[in-house]
Amino acid sequence: MAANEAVMALREALGAQVVALPDEFGERRVADWSGMPGATPVAIIRPRTTDEAAQALAICSQYKQPVVTQGGLTGLVGGANLLGGEVALSLDRMNRIIEIDEVSATMTVEAGTPLQTVQEAASAAGFYFPLDLGARGSCSIGGNLATNAGGNRVIKYGMMRDQVLGVEAVLASGEIVGGLNKMIKNNSGYDLRHLLIGSEGTLAVITRVVLRLRPKPTATATAWCGLPDFAAVTTLLTRAQASLAPGVSAFEVMWAGYHDTVIANLKNLRAPLAEPHPFYVLLESVGTDPARHGEAFEEFLGGMLEAGVVSDAAIASSEAHARDFWAIRDAPGEYERFIPNYAAYDVSFSIAQVGDAAQQCEARLRARWPNAIVMTYGHLGDGNIHIVVDIPERGKQDHDDVDRVIYDVTREFEGSISAEHGIGTKKRDYLHLVRRAADIASMRAIKAALDPHGLLNPGKVF
Ligand SMILES: Cc1cc2nc3c(=O)[nH]c(=O)nc-3n(C[C@H](O)[C@H](O)[C@H](O)COP(=O)(O)OP(=O)(O)OC[C@H]3O[C@@H](n4cnc5c(N)ncnc54)[C@H](O)[C@@H]3O)c2cc1C
Repeated sequence: MAANEAVMALREALGAQVVALPDEFGERRVADWSGMPGATPVAIIRPRTTDEAAQALAICSQYKQPVVTQGGLTGLVGGANLLGGEVALSLDRMNRIIEIDEVSATMTVEAGTPLQTVQEAASAAGFYFPLDLGARGSCSIGGNLATNAGGNRVIKYGMMRDQVLGVEAVLASGEIVGGLNKMIKNNSGYDLRHLLIGSEGTLAVITRVVLRLRPKPTATATAWCGLPDFAAVTTLLTRAQASLAPGVSAFEVMWAGYHDTVIANLKNLRAPLAEPHPFYVLLESVGTDPARHGEAFEEFLGGMLEAGVVSDAAIASSEAHARDFWAIRDAPGEYERFIPNYAAYDVSFSIAQVGDAAQQCEARLRARWPNAIVMTYGHLGDGNIHIVVDIPERGKQDHDDVDRVIYDVTREFEGSISAEHGIGTKKRDYLHLVRRAADIASMRAIKAALDPHGLLNPGKVF
């Protein structure tokens, strides 16, 4: 059926306020941050309620009209981009906080609500919502769920999957599934919530969500450490997890190549330590005893300095000082300013193998491109590193070859080609390297069961 017939039916049922045509939405951004190609939608649907989303999908199903769901468009793998001929369904108007239940420690939100809005509302109510990532101001809760986002505090609180109690979603048919479950225990049948989390818009459109809130930490200690080698980095991780009660809330590792490049290129950043070191760690621990927490943190770091695990360290003396440390770790949002043609990877390995795998990647890249800029950093507590590569004077010409180097090493170390960003279209052709044929066949069978005409986010994941 021709796309414009579907669009006419959508427009008639939902009105021009909800369904906009290309000459009406004009220059509105319709592609994510991945830099992958993206087509213009034949229309943009912006439902205000779950029922409007359900009505839209029922019409799309009737006309076999493909749909791409869009949240804050901060995804890094092309998952929200259009391949051509689809309508975009944006959740940007479904951005309300519906309820904070202080007794159950839950927050019920519409899926288009920005992550930062949720963090701030949780804090204002005396709670803590721990998911945190550099795109917090723009990314949506629905996008966080659809990609099972990770970020900075996974080491203590888990990924997005661990922050969610209830998921309401609309299937391609227009039927509404799931709901606003607030119970921690609910084993009545298959848990569709976990099927939809990480499904990248291919199985359903997530419309409303019940989030789990945590007690707000009343004490935070943050340090910037310089370390002599990777063995020292893993020793610091193990010792910090054993000693810093109630827990390490961030353990961000940066290889010198990352630290030196961002400090040299971003004038707002200052190196926290006077001398250079091969590795840096941003260590954060949260607690509930302001009187003792800082002291215990200092004692722990003193011991690590004495043992030679840490070569030098700076402890944040204020929240602003801690923010300066985090600004160095959040620098990836600024790459465009100095290496616009970069290629970025989001891989994971067992923690014990991260050092060797990263070393192999860098050695193989340098063997082929001696002057490559290679920046490695990541959430070591989760075995997740990001590798960013720029080949001076080659633009993006060699990106396919760089992909092969990184993904060959990932396969050899039995790692994952996507730790937290998803597959989208960017990594689709590499999925078979790390998943069995029977795994991919099972994914296809689930897709066919929930979306028999392949209308939701076609061409993504596999
Ligand atoms: C500077 C920066 C830093 C980042 N840091 C991290 C990080 O540390 N950790 C991390 O995990 N990610 C990170 N990301 C990636 C990205 O922000 C997250 O993956 C985020 O969760 C995407 O949310 P979004 O609303 O922007 O989704 P979009 O980009 O709009 O969509 C992403 C995918 O989800 C689907 N989708 C969106 N909303 C819905 C919905 N309501 N229902 C069904 N499907 C939907 C889309 O179809 C698409 O496949 C970062 C991105 C940037 C730009």
